[in-house]
Amino acid sequence: MQPLYQAEFSGRYLDALGSAFSALPLAAQYGFAIVFGLVIGSFLTVVVHRLPIMLERAWQAENTVAPQDHADQATPPARYNLAVPRSACPHCGHVLRPWENIPVVSYVLLRGRCAKCNAHVSARYPLTELATALLAALSLFAFGASLTALAAFGLCATLLATSLIDFDTRYLPDTLTLPLLWAGLIVNLGDTAFVPLHEAVIGAIAGYLFLWCVYWLFRLVRGVEGMGYGDFKLLAALGAWLGWQALPQVVLLSAIAGAIVGLAATVIGKMRFEEPLPFGPFLAAGGVITLFFGTPLYAVFG
Ligand SMILES: [Zn+2]
Repeated sequence: MQPLYQAEFSGRYLDALGSAFSALPLAAQYGFAIVFGLVIGSFLTVVVHRLPIMLERAWQAENTVAPQDHADQATPPARYNLAVPRSACPHCGHVLRPWENIPVVSYVLLRGRCAKCNAHVSARYPLTELATALLAALSLFAFGASLTALAAFGLCATLLATSLIDFDTRYLPDTLTLPLLWAGLIVNLGDTAFVPLHEAVIGAIAGYLFLWCVYWLFRLVRGVEGMGYGDFKLLAALGAWLGWQALPQVVLLSAIAGAIVGLAATVIGKMRFEEPLPFGPFLAAGGVITLFFGTPLYAVFG
């Protein structure tokens, strides 16, 4: 049977690749993980910046009246996706040359400024790249040279992008949360597993239902919307990756972190008290901590 043979072949190929990687000295493994993390981090900055604009454009295209109604504005929108157009300075439009696009290094060499117009470049770009590299190194440290480490890093990278988009736009895109949920179930189907499949499936269902209940409770009792549907999907995804036992800890960690940050922001005066916090980054942080440090809370109370 062809497909089975192919699966076996690619499995063997991955095994060979895995053992070749494991045979490298530890320093080389971490060096590779860090460089890989920086490159993926650079891609994440593009995703965080462009995905909301792409979704907004797609939404507008679907919801505008037929073009013949206003033929004067019939210019088709320029192509815009994760690959096109090339990265440019938002200030002067200067298209980045390859050497200006090296993660972290270019930022340091150019001292955080555009090479052409000298405009300030946000420190968020190199910080995102460094954070992604750190997550790659942590994945390697926690799970060794394995596909499990690669999967863990995939989870972390997606959570980082999702968090930054939620922070910027107060919106968790389905295009990230739903594939993340499926990926969690698929990962736990195979040898890469973090938890048994049935715990992952129950985790996905329980994660969604728990926040759905909290949402409706808040709405009925206080008449406010404390969070969005994106949060339910994100917790469902975390349940799919980490299993249902992880959920109480993830929720507790994110609630505590959210309360501290919310209170601090109110005290500093950056936010009014009624303003809802984007909850996604806190859920994601709770998920990453649980991924790397396990579920001591479940062990204590479960
Ligand atoms: Zn510029």
